[in-house]
Amino acid sequence: MAKSPEVKLAVFGRAGVGKSALVVRFLTKRFIWEYDPTLESTYRHQANIDDEVVSMEILDTAGQEDMLQKEGHMRWGDGFIIVYDITDRGSFEDVAPLRGLLEEVKKPKNVPLVLVGNKADLEHARQVGTEEGERLAAEMACAFYECSACADEGGCVAEAFYELCREVRRR
Ligand code: GDP
Ligand code: MG
Repeated sequence: MAKSPEVKLAVFGRAGVGKSALVVRFLTKRFIWEYDPTLESTYRHQANIDDEVVSMEILDTAGQEDMLQKEGHMRWGDGFIIVYDITDRGSFEDVAPLRGLLEEVKKPKNVPLVLVGNKADLEHARQVGTEEGERLAAEMACAFYECSACADEGGCVAEAFYELCREVRRR
């Protein structure tokens, strides 16, 4: 059997948007309410995507790194998930600068990227419209998912990770 491809994925976004919850949901199909927000972890995971076994290394960043650490994480990764929280406009405004830094650090351009608006279960507290997320993703030429790490009924979280793996493999 062919050696399975290995992809390095890093998850970025402001502290508190649910990066750890999304990663844990993807890995365990469970939601865990509280995670040490200062914790940075890497995980290994294998999945069958489009009839191919893909090995992933996933870096869950803490979201409060300094510029140098951020750039290091960006150099390390092959593909990136930028997460914002639909109930926190500030976290949405953090997305474009993160993308800008990615484009600076990673050359050539067109870095494999997926945009995730998390906490879609908190509709009553929404501050960022679905169309705004779609528009930003279109500007960044990347896939967009509105997900909930805590109520992930449609398997949206896994789909976001899988799509990123596909995007990395296409390059
Ligand atoms: P991180 O700092 O980006 O890693 O964020 P965490 O994963 O630690 O989550 C921050 C807070 O948001 C925690 O209290 C989580 O329980 C909560 N949270 C994360 N994802 C969701 C979600 O999809 N829905 C809701 N309602 N809360 C979430
Ligand atoms: Mg975290």
